[in-house]
Amino acid sequence: MKRTVLWIGVGVAAAALAALVTLLLTTCIFGNHRYGEPSCTEPQVCARCRKTRGEALGHDYRPATCTEPETCERCGQTRGEALGHAYLPATCTEPETCERCGQTRGEALGHLFTEATYQSAATCLRCGVEDGDPIVADLEGMALTYMEVGTPYPYTTASYEDHDIDVTGTVEIVDHTVIDGDEMFPAREGYEWHVVTLRLVFSGEDAQQNGMQSAMTYGDYYATDAEMGIGTDENGLRPFVVNYYGSRVQCWQKTCPDEEGGWFEHELRYTWKEGVQVPCGYDGTLLIFYHYDLARNSDRLYLPAGDVLDEHALVFRMQ
Ligand SMILES: [Zn+2]
Ligand SMILES: [Zn+2]
Ligand SMILES: [Zn+2]
Ligand SMILES: [Zn+2]
Repeated sequence: MKRTVLWIGVGVAAAALAALVTLLLTTCIFGNHRYGEPSCTEPQVCARCRKTRGEALGHDYRPATCTEPETCERCGQTRGEALGHAYLPATCTEPETCERCGQTRGEALGHLFTEATYQSAATCLRCGVEDGDPIVADLEGMALTYMEVGTPYPYTTASYEDHDIDVTGTVEIVDHTVIDGDEMFPAREGYEWHVVTLRLVFSGEDAQQNGMQSAMTYGDYYATDAEMGIGTDENGLRPFVVNYYGSRVQCWQKTCPDEEGGWFEHELRYTWKEGVQVPCGYDGTLLIFYHYDLARNSDRLYLPAGDVLDEHALVFRMQ
């Protein structure tokens, strides 16, 4: 009997223990909650009794981009709208490009080149980039005698009395100045005068016997076929045309009366001024002395430069 009671006691204890274990494992009555991880929208929640602890984490939004709205790093929840691209205008070399993310749209515009001129390479009207070089001047690289100010150069031409006889003297550019204008050379908006003082001196025996016939004309360093007017207007201005930055530009030339001219002792001497009125900055005008023979059969002394530029020509470039 005693043994039986003992066994019942053991059974009750075991049952109580089992019940306790069961309660521990299946309920939270001892405060043994089994909390899960908190989420953006839920605090920690007990898996058994749904008791909560703490606060929801709240969303952790990363900033919106061109193509994505604000988006939670944790759960992917979105808020608002994508920003859309912020395109900068297309340029000659770049298509429309988003200043935020670099995304492009469409094509680059390509350059809009002008024609090259004597003064400028082909140039993009939009961005100013240049392509290639200016047009090569007709006289570039041509072996000519270019006069410098203050130096007399030997000059051979025909004598006055007999065009078959040559005479040799000198021609000198005494002075070269650039002015807006004065009494002799009327100013004009956008133009400047290149004024040159010239001196011819002939003192040889032939010149003393037969005199001399000089021959001078104007030309253009860039285009030897530049147009040169035949006559002068009532102010003594002779028109000619140069090509400046691709445009035909009207210019004028004026010859002033001799400051001195004739025989001085045994020297035939002429000093006078020539002026050309050209667009400000133009550097192509040429003054050319040539042998009178070249004009003998012509009705004009102001021959085109292309007809008189040879190894005998004396050239002064007004630059
Ligand atoms: Zn619980
Ligand atoms: Zn979230
Ligand atoms: Zn973008
Ligand atoms: Zn361009």
